[in-house]
Amino acid sequence: MKFDTRCVRVGSRPDPTTGAIVPPIYQTATYTLPEVGTSKGFDYTRSSNPTRAMLEENLAALDGGRHAVCFASGMSSVDAVLRKFDPGDHIVSSDDVYGGVSRLFNRILSRYGLEFTYVDSSKPENVREAVRPNTKMIWVETPTNPLLKVTDLAAVSAIAKEKGVLFGVDSTFATPALLRPFELGADIVMHSTTKYLSGHNQIIGGVVIVQSDELRDHLRFIQKSVGAVPSPFDCWLTMLGIKTLPIRMERHSENAMKVARFLEEHDKVAWVRYPGLKSHPQHEVAAKQMSGFSGMITFELKGGIPSGKTLLNSCRMISLAESLGAVETMITHPATMTHAEVPVAERHARGLTDGLVRLSVGIEDVSDILADLEQALDKA
Ligand SMILES: *Cc1c(COP(=O)(O)O)cnc(C)c1O
Repeated sequence: MKFDTRCVRVGSRPDPTTGAIVPPIYQTATYTLPEVGTSKGFDYTRSSNPTRAMLEENLAALDGGRHAVCFASGMSSVDAVLRKFDPGDHIVSSDDVYGGVSRLFNRILSRYGLEFTYVDSSKPENVREAVRPNTKMIWVETPTNPLLKVTDLAAVSAIAKEKGVLFGVDSTFATPALLRPFELGADIVMHSTTKYLSGHNQIIGGVVIVQSDELRDHLRFIQKSVGAVPSPFDCWLTMLGIKTLPIRMERHSENAMKVARFLEEHDKVAWVRYPGLKSHPQHEVAAKQMSGFSGMITFELKGGIPSGKTLLNSCRMISLAESLGAVETMITHPATMTHAEVPVAERHARGLTDGLVRLSVGIEDVSDILADLEQALDKA
């Protein structure tokens, strides 16, 4: 089956009792057993649930993986992967990872003896230099949040193979519609399904997809032992969202390209970062490994913090919101919102300047998005 067909068809079977084309939500905690020592494959929803199983089958197929294991959030998905390691183990990570991921690494997992080194993984030689004898995994986000750095997955996977370490990819910004990390050598693919996969700002969820039975067993064990599982209703809503993933990603990418070009021409904008623009430092890698450039744009306003605040407060249609990857266009100002607590010197050292704005371009008519940005930029 082709990718778009898999999105609509895999996992989602009509209800055998009524023929309902949309499968029911198995909103149940437990299952009655036919007899002691037997079951119909389900015993308790923390361990397994038919609605979740359908979503897992679907998500595995989208990325071309053998096993998908769903969690209650993107964060609990990353956490489940990291629980594979022991005190003293070392992980090399992209430096511009999602804020929640670096918080999990630095403030929780490092207390349990895991060691982390952050490198700019858009330069693969940085990854190679950071690998140590106790390194167990290379963890890459591409494109990154919020600077949209792109990592050459084939190059980094060659390093991982050479060094004998696992290679995990947080592919949330690209989705399987635009990027297939397994085809480029990844061992583990993770998504926050909260974003493009569910796509409508309707749930919080995450998934880890793997090829090996050993990693699947690890993830299933964490899923049932820790219990950070998504509700059956959330799984069902995610499945509905995924059916339109390919056409949404096409529109997100098309709109974002037009918005990026508009911003690049604007007087009040110092620079624009979008993987689809020739000016993006890794544009060629992005064009080689992705089949579209997704909907995320980062740009720098010449007027710094005051300009950023005015721009965000002046948007009429575009939503002032911290999330991304949904049908609605959303705008964020990291200096005063997501990264307000990061000390200024550290924020600047990470490239998160005062005038930085992150835009998650939605699927509205692009002329409405452009008109709103234009009137808000006039004031900024
Ligand atoms: C949102 C996000 C996460 C965390 O996912 P939640 O569903 O919010 O827990 C992790 N990585 C990336 C790239 C994200 O965008």
